[in-house]
Amino acid sequence: MRIFLFFVCLFVFNNLFAQCLKIKIFSDINVKSFVFATVMGKYNIFCDTTLIATLNKNEAIKIIQNGDSIDLISLNKKFGTFKNINLTGISDINYAKVKCVIPSLVQRFYDDDFIISVLNQSFFIINDVDIEKYVAGVVESEGGQKSGIEYYTTQAIICRTYALENLTRHISEGFYLCDDVHCQTYKGKNLNNFDITVATNNTSGLVIVDSTLNLITAAFHSNCGGQTVGSEDVWLNTKSYLKPVTDTFCLNQRNSTWEKTIPLEKWKQYLQMNGFLVNNYSNDTNIFAFSQPYRKTYYKIFSDSISLKKIRLDFNLKSAWFSISIENNNLLLKGRGYGHAVGLCQEGAMQMAKLNYSYIDIIKFYYKNTYIVNINTLNFFNAP
Ligand SMILES: [Zn+2]
Ligand SMILES: [Zn+2]
Repeated sequence: MRIFLFFVCLFVFNNLFAQCLKIKIFSDINVKSFVFATVMGKYNIFCDTTLIATLNKNEAIKIIQNGDSIDLISLNKKFGTFKNINLTGISDINYAKVKCVIPSLVQRFYDDDFIISVLNQSFFIINDVDIEKYVAGVVESEGGQKSGIEYYTTQAIICRTYALENLTRHISEGFYLCDDVHCQTYKGKNLNNFDITVATNNTSGLVIVDSTLNLITAAFHSNCGGQTVGSEDVWLNTKSYLKPVTDTFCLNQRNSTWEKTIPLEKWKQYLQMNGFLVNNYSNDTNIFAFSQPYRKTYYKIFSDSISLKKIRLDFNLKSAWFSISIENNNLLLKGRGYGHAVGLCQEGAMQMAKLNYSYIDIIKFYYKNTYIVNINTLNFFNAP
């Protein structure tokens, strides 16, 4: 009955969804100074909660770290030194250009508002941004430039679901999500790809839920190599919708296969460090060869073993699905796929979209027994 009512409500709620996210930007960069310029709209400048000026279109300010404070300078005057600066958009549409001066970086564009302070001798910059604009920015960063509208639609729903499921990830640090791969890559506003704007707007508020109406962990990766893996194999927690899927769509794509060479001596030392009784083995180097026609969990020699997941991390390999042959004094690793292989395979999904599968087909192929719903419906049903 609950599921029935739930789907009835899908048609009742429409476009109610509006939420801002606090995203820490430049989270992997030690920013010391930057220029902020209004591209569209106007910004009120609040310094330590006092309104000191309004920044009109095409006007700029320079923001410089000074110890644990901030110097604020315009073209013709210094406003002063402050602890906090808030830049709040006051027009219908507001977006700005941010050009890091120290270190010197390519300029980026961001929608909506900014909250700026200094933490540990570096700027702490929050972009307080409408979720749909954030999603479009993430899709541009994560989804490539020419992937087609059906794929962007799929990626928009996934990125929105991921963001909403992870809102508390950095909450103790004063923001929701960082802009790095740790959360989702977000390098600012989607400016140039109209397909992404359409895909995001058309799916506004749509998210993926499991059969208990909870947001799913919308994991994705570049290429699974032909088979995705269950979440329990990578993160230990079992999710009913993150199960192994045989995927032929991603074969023969850019990240389908890889190779790497490792010196045999280095490999022996590594195994020894991890408890393998290497000195007891025979002199036949083929003992280190390894076959993985289907995904396995461990690399084993006699009763010694190590997880493939750990080898992947320690050697920075593209995936944990690889075989080993011995060539001269080296190991030749031949691998399949790129990434943790849990959830949606991006290159497979791109191929499905090219073959005219819908975003619903694609999402249901990689996330089993899930539904695509509007977040407003979900909030209504989950309210006490
Ligand atoms: Zn993060
Ligand atoms: Zn795949």
